[in-house]
Amino acid sequence: MTCEPVASLILEGDNLETNQFPEETAIIDLNLKVYDETLKGQIFVTDRPAGLADVVPVARSLSDEIARRTIEYANRTGRNIPCEKGCAACCRYLVPVSAPEVFRIWDEIQAIKPEEQRDVLSAFVNAAQRILDAGRPPTPQGRVASGEKPQDATDTINRWYAGIDVDCPFLKHEACTIYPLRPIACREHMVSSSVEHCLPANSDQAKPIEPPFSIVEALGRLAGEAEDLSLESVMLPFAPSWRQINHERARRKWPAPALFECFIATVHDLSARHRLAA
Ligand code: SF4
Repeated sequence: MTCEPVASLILEGDNLETNQFPEETAIIDLNLKVYDETLKGQIFVTDRPAGLADVVPVARSLSDEIARRTIEYANRTGRNIPCEKGCAACCRYLVPVSAPEVFRIWDEIQAIKPEEQRDVLSAFVNAAQRILDAGRPPTPQGRVASGEKPQDATDTINRWYAGIDVDCPFLKHEACTIYPLRPIACREHMVSSSVEHCLPANSDQAKPIEPPFSIVEALGRLAGEAEDLSLESVMLPFAPSWRQINHERARRKWPAPALFECFIATVHDLSARHRLAA
């Protein structure tokens, strides 16, 4: 079950009531270059033990702020991003979720009313079955065919998935039923082309705009660091079954300040790598 947040992200300029945090709260500084600006803030972390799922709310807030700055930057450079709440044109694409998000989404599904929970889980089963019925993707997951660049392999899988044309399990009447809690990949997916180009049949014409670095990747790397595993991600429709198999991992705890320090160090590292590559 989802419980009290163990951490809060406060961005520079936010109203901060310092007395809302207990004395033993750790403070982690955030200082990120996002395009031509610096994103500054602090993460206030309680000293309770925390699991990977506990990092996700802060990761979502950070991802929203980076997406907001990405849209501003695109507008400043003459591009319009039509992505907004209510548009579901990309909700039949592959949504990769990191292990911390799988654990979090599972807890959030457990917190909804039983009758709604049944509907959601049944939508997951139907979507997963459609994907399994489509057979193996053209490139084995997690491996790159000889001579193929990693990005080519990702594009190949994305095209294969879009061809299956399977609704996201959280899509109902062309609207996202969990919009504030949607996966970070959904927050990071933006285009500067028209909405029609996002439909699976026209996806080759879509012009994606990627944020400077990915918070989904940061969460994946955090899980890898904490558990000494290689980077992994799960197709959203398989999240509940993957969560059942990895039940013990979902229950693991670390000291919250150490876990959040590792997450923010990973985000800073990805940001620095992006600046070097730019
Ligand atoms: S989680 Fe919501 S926004 Fe993301 S693909 Fe599913 S319906 Fe669309």
